Amino acid sequence: MCRSGCPTQDHASWGECARAANLRVAYCGIGGGDATVQKQWDSELELYRQARAQGIQPEGTTRNKVESALRASDAAGLAFGKDFKTAAPLPAGAEAV
Ligand SMILES: [Zn+2]
Repeated sequence: MCRSGCPTQDHASWGECARAANLRVAYCGIGGGDATVQKQWDSELELYRQARAQGIQPEGTTRNKVESALRASDAAGLAFGKDFKTAAPLPAGAEAV
C-alpha cells in the first residue's frame, strides 16, 4: 500500500505512508537554528536519562530541574525523588512524609 518513493514500504495504508513521509520531511527540513534547539533538547534528555539510571527522579526533564536534582543527590548522598523529595534533605533519622 506504500507510495513508490517510500523507503520503508511497511505502511498499512497509503495515508499512513504519506503521513510518515510528511513527518520525516518536516523533521529533516528543520533549519540550523531549530536543529540547535533539537540538540539541546537531546542533551537535556540524555542528562535526565543518566539521572534516572542512578535512581534519581528529577521533578522535570529540563536541564535546571535535572541538574538541581543531581546536585541535591550529590550533597545528600541519596537519590533525589526516590530517597528524598525536598531540595534540603531531611536530617538523618527523620521520617520522610
Ligand atoms: Zn510507506
